[in-house]
Amino acid sequence: MPPRLGAFVHRRIMAPGALAAASLMLAIPASAASHSPGAPGIGDPYYPAYGNGGYDVSHYDLRLKYQPATDTLEGTAALLARTTQDLSRFNLDFLLDVGEVRVNGAKASFATSGEHELEITPKTPLAKGTDVTVVVRYSGVPSSKQAYGFTSWHRTPDGGVGANEPEAAWWWFPSNDHPLDKATYDVSVQVPDGTQAISNGTLQSTSSRAGWTRFNWRSNKPQATYLATLAVGKFDITTGTTESGIPVLNAYSKDLGDNAGAARASIERTGEVADWLAEYYGPYPYNALGGYVPNTTTGYALETQTRPFYSPRQFANGSNVSVVVHELAHQWYGDLVSVAGWKDIWINEGFARYAQWLWSEHEGEGTAQEIADHVYASRPADDPFWAVKPGDPGPENQFHIAVYDRGALTLQALRNEIGDDAFFAILKGWPQKFAHGNATVADFQKYAEEVSGQSLGTLFDTWLFQPSKPTAPAARAASIAKVAVAPAQPKSWKKIAATNNVHEQEHEH
Ligand SMILES: [Zn+2]
Repeated sequence: MPPRLGAFVHRRIMAPGALAAASLMLAIPASAASHSPGAPGIGDPYYPAYGNGGYDVSHYDLRLKYQPATDTLEGTAALLARTTQDLSRFNLDFLLDVGEVRVNGAKASFATSGEHELEITPKTPLAKGTDVTVVVRYSGVPSSKQAYGFTSWHRTPDGGVGANEPEAAWWWFPSNDHPLDKATYDVSVQVPDGTQAISNGTLQSTSSRAGWTRFNWRSNKPQATYLATLAVGKFDITTGTTESGIPVLNAYSKDLGDNAGAARASIERTGEVADWLAEYYGPYPYNALGGYVPNTTTGYALETQTRPFYSPRQFANGSNVSVVVHELAHQWYGDLVSVAGWKDIWINEGFARYAQWLWSEHEGEGTAQEIADHVYASRPADDPFWAVKPGDPGPENQFHIAVYDRGALTLQALRNEIGDDAFFAILKGWPQKFAHGNATVADFQKYAEEVSGQSLGTLFDTWLFQPSKPTAPAARAASIAKVAVAPAQPKSWKKIAATNNVHEQEHEH
């Protein structure tokens, strides 16, 4: 995702009462003395209520029906999970209205709590290490639901879209909503004839009956909940195949107006860009590719797995291949290897931004070194930019421009320190080392030290963890801005900045 201003980031604070309520519920029936409730959060300090404890989901089967005219979503979610503790009760994260829950076939009681918790009490307590099937029947109007005062469901004139970070699932399916719990997906959505339902992965089949068309999508590799997406609307769909043989499916709202040409001229290059990225990051990890542009009024883009979400406004000033590079780079850095906690956002955004710098170099519009020199020289020491620590920015600054630009600057400093051979070996090796899993910033430092054979603690501390501008000697030591005269703005600079969201652009000078 491109950066947002801190003010634009929704703030979430866990109500003190929620923790107190959780501890009150420790009254356990005698028959289940060893069983206790799963935690209402997975343990992420940035977002204490996100995800849940006590189980791990391996598969989501979502069978849905959506009516664009009324923004009504109804359906059934079947979750396959395995318990990680003896459970008397467990939570899912969800906002729509639940009609029935079954656990291993038996009706379970349920209640809601907090901002987005669905508490499920199975008829029989669950033993640790067992497979559990949870079926949730639900309905609701996603656009009518908010948590913490915001929504990630974007109503459009012809439908709706669920796409946001770090949360979007609550508005369309119940989940363990944290990147630590990845799963495979079957998403089957029925919509009125003439309307399309777009999701991740491969379109397995479609069928029409009595005025409704069903779209069956499959993601056959682990996918984080925030990377699952659903878009319903009237789309033009294009298909193709990359040089390396990956099928591409793109979808464009029929209502993009003047942005339609620029959007297509950018996103139709998805296959070319993915093949180019594979030279740096290794083979593309999934069996499907694409992108979609709904007619939303949003300004951002998001690396939804295999099929990124793009806002029409990303193309308001003409074609923007750089944003395609950014979102596709995330397929390796963010999707294949995901953050272990949201504090690790640099291992997503620093690398997706650096891919844009490499693309600039590829296009002859400024080298990564020139862009790095420009970032360093153009931000004075008292710029609040330098107060943000990309290695642990805090939830309020998770999508701050510094995570991106200072984050990519860190990679140029690393490249200069260890040399191109080791640097590009790391870029290619990392997605394989933690494929389909999660990793931390500390894991990256450790891996870079292993591959380069160098101690890099000082370098990472200087560029990622100090709330101040690295000094001129530190920069010179990392071969950043060595020239006495401030470097000119690289040609690609405006295009790369254009991938920042609209709120950010308003503050560009
Ligand atoms: Zn991004």
